Amino acid sequence: MPYSTLRNKIKARPLRIIFIFYWFLLAYILAALIFWYIDLNGQNQELTQLRFNAVSVNDVHYIQKTNRIQKARDRKTAQYMGEGITFLLMILAGAFYVFRIIKRQLVQSEQQKNLMMAITHELKTPIAVTRLNLETMQIRKLEPTQQQKLIRSTIEEANRLNTLCNNMLFMSQLDSGASSLANERIDFSNLTLDCATDFIVRFPDRKIELNIQEEIIITGDKLLLQLAINNLLDNAIKYSGKEDVVLVKLFKIQKKVKLQVIDQGIGIKTSEKEKIFEKYYRGEGMQAKGTGLGLYLTKEIVKQHNGNISIKNNELRGSTFEIQLRGSKNT
Ligand code: ADP
Repeated sequence: MPYSTLRNKIKARPLRIIFIFYWFLLAYILAALIFWYIDLNGQNQELTQLRFNAVSVNDVHYIQKTNRIQKARDRKTAQYMGEGITFLLMILAGAFYVFRIIKRQLVQSEQQKNLMMAITHELKTPIAVTRLNLETMQIRKLEPTQQQKLIRSTIEEANRLNTLCNNMLFMSQLDSGASSLANERIDFSNLTLDCATDFIVRFPDRKIELNIQEEIIITGDKLLLQLAINNLLDNAIKYSGKEDVVLVKLFKIQKKVKLQVIDQGIGIKTSEKEKIFEKYYRGEGMQAKGTGLGLYLTKEIVKQHNGNISIKNNELRGSTFEIQLRGSKNT
């Protein structure tokens, strides 16, 4: 069964049952409140009638007494109304609060389940490929070119595992509030070049072009920035075709350092441009492998470096992701 179908099936059922129960309970409480009001009001009317009956028409104080009875009835009606409205507001406020909490909890637990499935999927492929490659090299005597190809593919899978582990590690640090930023001097030009070169080696069949201004220095956390660049490059490769060019541009305008990863791939709908940075969000009907964490973590990393990340359509087709950071004073 495709992963996305499995994900949707798991999502739908418990949510529906819990929400049916919730709405039933809320409707029951509101109905009980309305009946309580009708019942008390009825008793009030009956009591008023009995009091009216007890006053004789010949009584010299008839008008004052009936006025007093009417006032007492109106006071009671106002009291019941006031109490009813107060209870209604309290119930609605409580119901709204509980609704939000339940919804958040359910969404979180679904996301955790989805994440576990996605990670399992992500882990299985590199492990299976690595094992197959190694077994092939062990059993068969291969030509050096074939051997190189298998080694390259094994390294590619190991790198994918490495990125996945780094993403998970950073995410657990974020969740526990334990993420601390190293504040080192980084040659951002070299770092970008190293990351891009790594992808060029990993994907020799892909067209990756570089336009990197030299000696751009920033301060920050090298490992985290490396992770952010790798996530953008990974997506650019993943969401574009074999013939499409991926361009990595790094330049500095005044004190602003701009890193752009430009692809000619499937592009991103305007309605999704905000959502793709949410935790666990994956594009509609996404078939490519992924956990929905890459851009969320990239945005967090950029935020921690007091920068920002934006996305626009590539003029040709595809997308341009731009990270903007502050350049170091001593650049
Ligand atoms: P993942 O790639 O694991 O799904 P990400 O957080 O990296 O998670 O990306 C979230 C979503 O954003 C993806 O599922 C995809 O729909 C969309 N996306 C990210 N990068 C690109 C890109 N370069 N081109 C088109 N869509 C993209």
